[in-house]
Amino acid sequence: MINLTPLEFKDRLFIGVNVKSEHVSLPHRDTPLLNQAQKIFPVAFSSLIVGEQIHQTRIECVGTVPASPPTILPGTDGLITAVPGTALGIFTADCTAVMVYDPTTLCLGMAHAGWRGTYENILEKLVTTMITAHGVQPTDCHAVLGPAIGGSCYEISEALAEMFRIRFPFSKPFLSSAPSGKPRLDLRGLQRAQLINARIPDDHITMSSDCTHCRADLYYSYRRDGTLTGRHLTLAVLL
Ligand SMILES: [Zn+2]
Repeated sequence: MINLTPLEFKDRLFIGVNVKSEHVSLPHRDTPLLNQAQKIFPVAFSSLIVGEQIHQTRIECVGTVPASPPTILPGTDGLITAVPGTALGIFTADCTAVMVYDPTTLCLGMAHAGWRGTYENILEKLVTTMITAHGVQPTDCHAVLGPAIGGSCYEISEALAEMFRIRFPFSKPFLSSAPSGKPRLDLRGLQRAQLINARIPDDHITMSSDCTHCRADLYYSYRRDGTLTGRHLTLAVLL
């Protein structure tokens, strides 16, 4: 069973990952808020593993609970575990945090998917890796796509729209025209189609409709606020 727990903080959790060295700690400036979150979700924060998130498609299988959390895996945008008590985390601010869970093999996968990861189809790679590493059947899996920039707010170049049309013929319903004349991409809609293409049943997919760009009251947005915006942490743990 997937249990979605919304967390609300008085202050926002301003954390993110942009590191080049291996297995470094999260920045100390975030410690008070991490401690606050830790009280609400103690199991998750005692074993948190996140990827460096460089908009590529490296998937890492996590086999053991780290001794000194949190752990950052360099060059990684996707994480998989079948170890109970290991929490996987994804940072986002417009990109989508995607969770895939197989209740049969008790395997959990998470991925960070912006346009680059979506173009390289990190979600199919996540599911494929869950199949090869853990014997997962995609038809057994459930998936969740979190808040992300919505199709009405995400303008892209015509060149990029054409790249998506060519690589993913099924992407056409998720491309529209903005009033400016530029193409717009419904990133989550396309990601959902990619998950269905990877044989996860449509009715096993839960998708947030919240747009991070529109909802300044709730979410960070890289497009809206620029490089100094914070990041949301989406985390999941097998209990
Ligand atoms: Zn919006």
